[in-house]
Amino acid sequence: MLDRARAGKFAYPAVNVTSLTTANAVLKGLADSKSDGIIQVSTGGAAFASGSSVKDMVLGAISIADHVHRVADRYPIYVALHTDHCQANKLDSFVLPLVEETERRRAAGKPNLFSSHMFDGSALPLKENLDIAVKLLERFRKDDLILEIEAGVVGGEEDGIKASASAKLYTTPEDTLEVASRLNAIQGRYLLAATFGNVHGVYKPGHVKLKPSILKDCQDAVIAKYGDPARFDFVFHGGSGSDIRDIHEALDYGVVKMNVDTDMQYAFTRAVADHFFKNYDGVLKVDGEVGNKKAYDPRGYLTSAESAMAARVKQAAQELRATGTTMMQ
Ligand SMILES: [Zn+2]
Repeated sequence: MLDRARAGKFAYPAVNVTSLTTANAVLKGLADSKSDGIIQVSTGGAAFASGSSVKDMVLGAISIADHVHRVADRYPIYVALHTDHCQANKLDSFVLPLVEETERRRAAGKPNLFSSHMFDGSALPLKENLDIAVKLLERFRKDDLILEIEAGVVGGEEDGIKASASAKLYTTPEDTLEVASRLNAIQGRYLLAATFGNVHGVYKPGHVKLKPSILKDCQDAVIAKYGDPARFDFVFHGGSGSDIRDIHEALDYGVVKMNVDTDMQYAFTRAVADHFFKNYDGVLKVDGEVGNKKAYDPRGYLTSAESAMAARVKQAAQELRATGTTMMQ
C-alpha cells in the first residue's frame, strides 16, 4: 500500500476510531471510495473501547482490531490497522504488549494484529527519540511491522495531551537527515511524521500556518545525501480542517498517510445532533408522553452517524487522491 501511494503521489486517510460503529463507518467510506486506508486507535480511544469501567488500552485496542480483522473481509478494499501517538512512558503499557500479541499470533501462523505502531518521542531530545526508535525498528523489522515516528511537535491537543507553547512546530532538514542516518541502515520500514506547522484539532482560518515546503526541503536534503531510495514516507498529522491546496502540496512532497480525527468526530456527532433536534418529542418523554421507541433506539441515530462519517471518509479519500486506487481486484 505504501509503495503504491508513494509512486502515485496520493495518501491514505488514517482515521481514528473508538467503537464498532466508527470502525464500520471507515470501512464503508473506504469501500464507497474504492480506496484502501488505515484505521487507527489512540491510547485514549483504546481505553474507551474496553469500557468505561475497565479502561484497559491493550484490551480495547485488541478488541477493535479483532472486529476489523473479522468484518473487513466483507468490504472490497484493504485496510491497515495502526496505533496512534504513544509517548515513551506508555510504550510498556500500550505498544509493546500489542507487539507481543502480534508475535504470539505470528508464532501460531496468524496474521499480525496491527500493521503499524507509532512511537511519539517528539517531547524528547532527538537523540533520545531516535535511540528508542532504533530499538523498536529492529524488533518491528522481524515482525513485518511498520514504525511511525515523529520529529518536531504537532501543536494543539489530542487525547488530552497538549503541545507546549514553546514546542518546535517545524521540523528541519538537519533533523530528518539525522533520522535517515540512524534508521535507514536497519532496513525496516518506517513512516516519518515531520511537522510543518500542523496542529491537532480544527481552528478558525488564519490560526494555523502550514508550510508544506518544509517537507520538500527535508526530502531534497535526504535525496541529495543518500539517494532517491531514501526518500521519506511522510505522515500528515492534524489533517482535519486543512486547506486543500496545502494537502495537495504535501502529497506532492511525499505524504502517504494523513491522520483525520476531528473532522470525523464532527461528521459523526453532526448526524446525531440532527436526529435529536428533529425528533425532540420522540427521543424524550415530554409532558407525560412516552416518546417514540423508533426515535430513541440508538441504532437509528448511530446508523445515521455511521453514514455521515462514511461520507466524510469518502471526502477525505477524494482530497488525498486515493479514490479508485484500491489494490483489491
Ligand atoms: Zn497526531
